[in-house]
Amino acid sequence: MHDERCEGNDYFKCDYCLQSWSEERPMIEGHKGSLVCAKCLSAAYVAIVYAGQGEMGVAGPLKDVDATHAGPGCTMCLERRAELYWRSPLVDEALICRRCVRQSVTALEGDPDFGYTRPAAPAGMVVTDEPRDDEDDDA
Ligand SMILES: [Zn+2]
Ligand SMILES: [Zn+2]
Repeated sequence: MHDERCEGNDYFKCDYCLQSWSEERPMIEGHKGSLVCAKCLSAAYVAIVYAGQGEMGVAGPLKDVDATHAGPGCTMCLERRAELYWRSPLVDEALICRRCVRQSVTALEGDPDFGYTRPAAPAGMVVTDEPRDDEDDDA
């Protein structure tokens, strides 16, 4: 989110943990100024991609979700999908869908300035993080 009361790095705050932007906390921006930081992304990635944990969403009309009342839409893409959603443990209405998690992780990894790599799979776990047939990457 963009915190109008603050300036500089503090203007940019992760919607999921409310921490300010910093060198150690790069962020990806979604729609309407929503932001997710690398640390929340890593937590969401582990939960959804590796553990298959989250809340199953329901597909619905593509309409904007009120920013102050995001659930059950995705705070980043403002869409409703039949997808796994990760809910912030700190901000109850902050949700991110599986597609945004995957796209944001890929975007962070693609910027050499961030030096970000996605979390490794838990030991002994075989992971196939291939896009599914119903998953488009056109956002
Ligand atoms: Zn965060
Ligand atoms: Zn999303």
